[in-house]
Amino acid sequence: MKKVFKYILLSIISLWLLFTSFVTYRFFSNSWTEFKFDENKFKRSHNPIWTIGTPTTQIPFIKRISSCNENYILEFISLERQLQNLKVDVKSGLINEGLINQFKIVYDKWPDGLKRFSENHISNVFIVKNLGSSGYTFTANDSSFIIFINEDILKERPNDWFNRTEGDCIQNKGSSFLINHLIEDSSNNSPVYTLENILIHEVGHCVGVVEGLTPTFDRKIRLPNELNFYDGTYDVQLINLELKSPYSEIFTKLKYYSPEKLTFNEYSLMLDELSNSPFPTTYSTQGQLEFFAEYFYSYIHCILQKRPFEYRFINNNRIIKSVGNGIYNQNNKSRYLLIEKTINEL
Ligand SMILES: [Zn+2]
Repeated sequence: MKKVFKYILLSIISLWLLFTSFVTYRFFSNSWTEFKFDENKFKRSHNPIWTIGTPTTQIPFIKRISSCNENYILEFISLERQLQNLKVDVKSGLINEGLINQFKIVYDKWPDGLKRFSENHISNVFIVKNLGSSGYTFTANDSSFIIFINEDILKERPNDWFNRTEGDCIQNKGSSFLINHLIEDSSNNSPVYTLENILIHEVGHCVGVVEGLTPTFDRKIRLPNELNFYDGTYDVQLINLELKSPYSEIFTKLKYYSPEKLTFNEYSLMLDELSNSPFPTTYSTQGQLEFFAEYFYSYIHCILQKRPFEYRFINNNRIIKSVGNGIYNQNNKSRYLLIEKTINEL
């Protein structure tokens, strides 16, 4: 009798174990499928995002800054970000009328060519949640673009935003140094300028593609042979432009959106290298597309708008190191001139 009881008990335990492992499996497999790449939803033939054409100029650019109410766009951009190893589920975000009105005043002061380009080539600026970065640009045809902006940055002051994104590359445990980088004077240190800074960088990507000064986003190279903008920085290879030596070694540990961090000392040494290099900013070392977009941004921000750009280290409330934007470096004059010519002819 005792033996029978033992068997019944063992069977109950086994069934229970089987049941709980099934529940656990279902739970994890469900949360996994959320991020599983669904090729069908991504295909040109399946997702209407690929048919979004040139923007209608009857709706001014300012009115194209909005929430995103189309699920196929949000779903697509989530998949695209997941392909880039960012486990994000992009949702629609909000922007209030007040901020759009403030941005309109800022936008009106943009160079005419840049405004013309935005009116003709930027279909939408969608404010979204969980983008995984501050901005992101998509194109279906290398001529019209959708820019996505992460809602969180609409509440962030530009200097805070800059220090947060740069600080994300450094592990500052045990260091008495702090970074106190500057991209806006106190009079301009409000979120509308964070939006402006990010948008100019993203529009820079679009200008690079349309003007044939960067590869397309799908990395098809169609750059003019005589272009020496990337000399000494990126090697033109079959499908990509690779960072060249010695910069590939110097900047190898600088990574954004990654758990890998630099020590303060490494970051400081890297800034020393940056000031004598062809790179205008730290972020411009992150790939050929960023190299161009950061030059474009730096030219507008520093030269045309005469706004500050300074990497600063402080210790005991004193600035102990300051490194400016590389666009002022005489050795980068030809790059500066190419960007100047491009903007003047937009
Ligand atoms: Zn970029």
